[in-house]
Amino acid sequence: SIMPAMLSSISNGARRGILFKGGIHLEKLSRMKVVAFDKTGTLTEGYPHVTDAYFRDDDGSILENIRAIEANSNHPLAQSIVRYAESQKYLPKSLPEQITEERGHGVKAVLGGSSWKIGSAEFVGREESAKFQGGIAGKLAAEGKTVVFAADEKGIAAVIALKDTVRAETATALKSLQQNGIITVMLTGDNEKTAAAIAAECGIDDFAAACLPDEKLNRIKQLKDQYGAVGMVGDGINDAPALATANVGIAMGAGTDVALETADIVLMKNDLSKIADAVSLSRRMSRII
Ligand code: ADP
Ligand code: MG
Repeated sequence: SIMPAMLSSISNGARRGILFKGGIHLEKLSRMKVVAFDKTGTLTEGYPHVTDAYFRDDDGSILENIRAIEANSNHPLAQSIVRYAESQKYLPKSLPEQITEERGHGVKAVLGGSSWKIGSAEFVGREESAKFQGGIAGKLAAEGKTVVFAADEKGIAAVIALKDTVRAETATALKSLQQNGIITVMLTGDNEKTAAAIAAECGIDDFAAACLPDEKLNRIKQLKDQYGAVGMVGDGINDAPALATANVGIAMGAGTDVALETADIVLMKNDLSKIADAVSLSRRMSRII
């Protein structure tokens, strides 16, 4: 009968570090056709570190300004840039004013009488960003690095590249899902070029780049229309709406509280290979039922 099979599958999952918040999620998981993944903190470890930095002038004042502005943001990219500036002994000399953060784009502020923008190419000016230092940004993105631009009224002042490490188990975890006939898709706020390089490194089937938080949700809706049963794996506050909209929301155990609360399944050890285990468990259960 149904109950004993569900209960034994749930406890089986728990023993392997997979927390099912109810039997219904096992049943939905057994029918999942496609699974979408957030990039940062899900497919990758989520700690980007600065690998390259190019400045318009090399007296250090630009990095001082960037540090002063990014210190007001808690975006992981901003925090890594601040740590980098500190490691280079650049500390802010003046304090920024009128700081505004635009989610998915970057930060604006007034500092030392100039207005500054720090963020994506679209945010600071796409054409100028592409031309800076002979197109260095394109080369950095092709290496799978996230490129952050800083600009004042004079134009682009700096390009800073950050690289996040793909989790050790990501490629094998995706392969086992694919072998089970499940299509894998990456959703990211990062630009097209960087996303393409990371997607290739992971071996994921498809990706959508430059997704604003609302667009992640719309992608899930589209995938539902196209395939029926959709899973979503994420860790961030940004991912919560997509986790809620998917048929099966799966959160990384180290994710934010909102992600853990919203998800139907929690991977207690942050191990992506547990998703394929969970699928096998769910399929075995539905065969019994
Ligand atoms: P992700 O989905 O990868 O977490 P976000 O949607 O948070 O990305 O941000 C998208 C892009 O906007 C980043 O890749 C970056 O270029 C830019 N950005 C957003 N916030 C900041 C910030 N505080 N400092 C620098 N760049 C930022
Ligand atoms: Mg994330």
